Amino acid sequence: MLLVRNGRVIDPATKTDAALDVLLDGDTIAEVAAPGKLSRDTRGAETFDAAGLIVAPGFIDLHVHLREPGQESSETIETGTRSAARGGFTAVCCMPNTKPVHDNASITRFILDKAKNAAAHVWPIGAASVGSKGEAIAEIAAMKAAGIVAVSDDGKPIATAKLARQVMDYCNSLGIPVIEHSEDVSLAAGAVMREGVTSTRLGLPGMPAAAEAVCVARDVQLVELTGARLHIAHLSAKASLDQVRWAKSRGLRVTCEVTPHHFTLIDEDVTYDSRFKMNPPLASREDREALIAGLADGAVDAIATDHAPHEPALKDVEFDRAPFGILGFETALGLALEQLVHTGRIKLQRMVELFTTGPARVLGMERKLAGGQPADLTIFSTTREWTYDVKASPSKSRNSPFDGRTFKGGPVATIVAGKIAFRAN
Ligand SMILES: [Zn+2]
Repeated sequence: MLLVRNGRVIDPATKTDAALDVLLDGDTIAEVAAPGKLSRDTRGAETFDAAGLIVAPGFIDLHVHLREPGQESSETIETGTRSAARGGFTAVCCMPNTKPVHDNASITRFILDKAKNAAAHVWPIGAASVGSKGEAIAEIAAMKAAGIVAVSDDGKPIATAKLARQVMDYCNSLGIPVIEHSEDVSLAAGAVMREGVTSTRLGLPGMPAAAEAVCVARDVQLVELTGARLHIAHLSAKASLDQVRWAKSRGLRVTCEVTPHHFTLIDEDVTYDSRFKMNPPLASREDREALIAGLADGAVDAIATDHAPHEPALKDVEFDRAPFGILGFETALGLALEQLVHTGRIKLQRMVELFTTGPARVLGMERKLAGGQPADLTIFSTTREWTYDVKASPSKSRNSPFDGRTFKGGPVATIVAGKIAFRAN
């Protein structure tokens, strides 16, 4: 048993914000009660003193790349989940663009087998099409039976509207969402950043915001047609969010996520340093404002990191030759506090929702701090100062634009299935 005492418990599912003790018994929550009022006998339980700290349901990351199988020099399930736990995440959804692509049940089983002893739960996402090539639909039912929680051809969109319709129909019958990397590849072809004054000044090829919004519009129309559940990955543009708002106003089951880098940085921050290269690229100031408004008012459902490790040999090259993507786990909470909470743009309770019940709902799961629920907790500070040192990360990669940044507040302990998977010293 593990007793988490004296913490300020924030649970968006039950609208709780109060001093409570949480007793964990093995991999489930045994009881939550006012301080000192647990009915169970806690003698012999290990104790964690959470005085001055927030105790939340375990953070869930809907969008991560663990690079296994196939690119183990950039990350593995073991190193990636250790980095996730350090960032406060108790569960991560790994994208299928591995080598080979995760498009069949034997790879689902391989991932889940590797994840047995991992520092966080791993919930795999299967490919929508065979090899994510956008031609034939993948073995979605077999992957679902083996344990996938969603499908996506992430890295690129589902290639055609016809195939996207078919995937939606199929996933609708299986009860899982389709996660879309929204990008019109003809508009985005050759681009390495957002099109605008900065791309012109740097002389780098840019893609317009419409490259994303056009694809979101296509898929929203397909949800009208199919009634499926659609989740827009790493939404970055105001025009795309307007499409999501429209879909929600019509009662369509369309959700979206925003990354910490998109609510923190903008295209004007881009230099020739490849740590500022990601897809979708950093957007305009106006887009960033719209994303923060959506995070505040509920148009955005979740914060997801798009943790995308690339070993230095791949990433430390000229900007236009470098692969897209940055590390995400360990700076996510610090950036959310810095950009959203400390600025007064969103309430702490809402931020917790964006990391917990929000992503859970996208997957059709319920998460709350109550007896019988999984013993996954994220314990964090809103005041402790710390500096991110990417060299100290358990990740195999180092591609973060936030190296050396000092944060006010961050993860203090991550409890996964009743065990302390990370603890700050
Ligand atoms: Zn993507």
